[in-house]
Amino acid sequence: MTAELEKRAIAVHGAAYAPYSEFRVGACVQMNGKLFDGVNVENASYGLGICAERSAVFSAVIAGAHELAAVMVCTDASPPSSPCGACRQVLYEFARDPAAVVVTSINPAGERRSWTLAELLPDGFSGRELP
Ligand SMILES: [Zn+2]
Repeated sequence: MTAELEKRAIAVHGAAYAPYSEFRVGACVQMNGKLFDGVNVENASYGLGICAERSAVFSAVIAGAHELAAVMVCTDASPPSSPCGACRQVLYEFARDPAAVVVTSINPAGERRSWTLAELLPDGFSGRELP
């Protein structure tokens, strides 16, 4: 499944809409055994943009998938970029066991970095504290 995640993240990163930053990001998440793609989508009103990781997760939610197993992110950066804080929190929302969810960042040149979600967001906010 990792090879398919990687293939899709690389492919979709070309579809990113990033005319302002020119920082194109593609993501592919495995949720409930299925794969969902996402790209970053910027806006002239900068604060309205969304990251690739979150757009992939939201596509999964539309399909009824709520259990995150793996994340693949592709950018042109060297070394490959890790997900931003907002995306880490959104990923955490759907991770039953953050220590078991592997997040991998790659670039088309073949470089890669990997972490568990627990490493990226230690002691994250789960919502269990909410009334
Ligand atoms: Zn992000």
